[in-house]
Amino acid sequence: KPVIALVGRPNVGKSTLFNRLTRSRDALVADLPGLTRDRHYGEGRVGERPFLVIDTGGFEPVAKDGIMHEMAKQTKQAVAEADVVIFIVDGRQGLTPHDKTITDFLRKSGRSVMLVVNKAEGMKYTSVASDFYELGLGDPYVISAAHGDGVADLVEESLNLAFAQRPVDDEIEESSSKGIKIAIVGRPNVGKSTLVNALLGEDRVIAFDMPGTTRDAIEIPFERDEKQYTLIDTAGIRRRGKVFEAIEKFSVVKTLQSISEANVVLLLLDAQQDISEQDAHIAGFVLESGRALVVGINKWDGLTADRRDEIKIDIERKLNFLFFAKFHFISALKVTGIGPLMKSIDAAYAAAMAKLSTPKLTRALIEAIEHQQPRRKGSIRPKMRYAHQGGQNPPIVVIHGNALEAIDANYRRYLEKHFRETFSLVGTPLRIELRSSK
Ligand code: GDP
Repeated sequence: KPVIALVGRPNVGKSTLFNRLTRSRDALVADLPGLTRDRHYGEGRVGERPFLVIDTGGFEPVAKDGIMHEMAKQTKQAVAEADVVIFIVDGRQGLTPHDKTITDFLRKSGRSVMLVVNKAEGMKYTSVASDFYELGLGDPYVISAAHGDGVADLVEESLNLAFAQRPVDDEIEESSSKGIKIAIVGRPNVGKSTLVNALLGEDRVIAFDMPGTTRDAIEIPFERDEKQYTLIDTAGIRRRGKVFEAIEKFSVVKTLQSISEANVVLLLLDAQQDISEQDAHIAGFVLESGRALVVGINKWDGLTADRRDEIKIDIERKLNFLFFAKFHFISALKVTGIGPLMKSIDAAYAAAMAKLSTPKLTRALIEAIEHQQPRRKGSIRPKMRYAHQGGQNPPIVVIHGNALEAIDANYRRYLEKHFRETFSLVGTPLRIELRSSK
């Protein structure tokens, strides 16, 4: 899938455009405890064509240290790996020195850049645009992300550009895969390649290692206990094994790409080390994607009892937002714990693909309400009438009624929990959508 990166100074309107591109205004994950940050990674689709969007956050290219410096580093990597960069500037504020610095950086990156002047509602094209010609990035796209002016064209053009970078290949994906598609993700050195070897056998790994493949995900079918699976590899994991022992740089884009191709994500952690910010970040991507999830805590072999307790506590503390997933203690090296792990992958897939009928969902909804009414907000009492399924992988429960905007995050969580328990949905996020008819 092509990747579009949004770059620009803080507050120029990146997240508004991000929402337009991914239509993720509801940002349901924001309700989850332990995960309050904004969405920065999303999937969009135009017709049959899926794509990924990365909002790189505020880019202060000159920051030498601290959080801005970290963000600048991340942004640079995302830009290097993206197919198209949308560079957003603020039409109300006009051209700033930082915009020029960012332009220099983007030019050196060699990526395709689209210059977008935002916040231009009610302004004349020529007067807004003229300011920015000196950046030398060609005719700017003048838009208002908040009002939607010019956005449809921009989306269309950026996608055309993105898909032009990635000819063929994209089409074949769907048909060739069999069974559950699994992506193994985790930071470098947690044991991803070792686990892949354990699952596929060393010979297979080498056999599939063809040179000259694209940057897209590669699918490797395999069988286990007479069940079919497909491993998604974004040209990172399978490559190494014994042949490559190069130090791998963590790639956001590759990780997102494999997640987006998968039905179930297997997140690997390293039991010999504490849960890092990077682990939590990757877990956050999975959650945002809505894919089913199983967590493997690897390198369980040879740990002291104390260390085992320690890491369990650490996980509970730092990854509590993954409450819906099953955790397995495994050793990829000694090949232990893999059977139960695969069982959880099957179960997570089944939950993610569950078909929930309208009568059953509505019955569950009524049960939930009988047990606990939503609270009034002022004089408004939300009235929920029925529920139907709005999607799979993740399951989406759409609740219809009146004044549902008065329903708060707590009650939403209560509903989620109730549906989860009623339908035994383990291993998949569950999304609740509220639709009011006025
Ligand atoms: P990747 O970067 O996530 O693909 O990690 P690798 O599979 O390359 O593993 C990194 C290092 O951890 C290697 O030296 C492996 O031998 C070691 N390793 C992987 N899995 C295990 C395990 O289950 N137990 C132990 N003790 N070491 C492991």
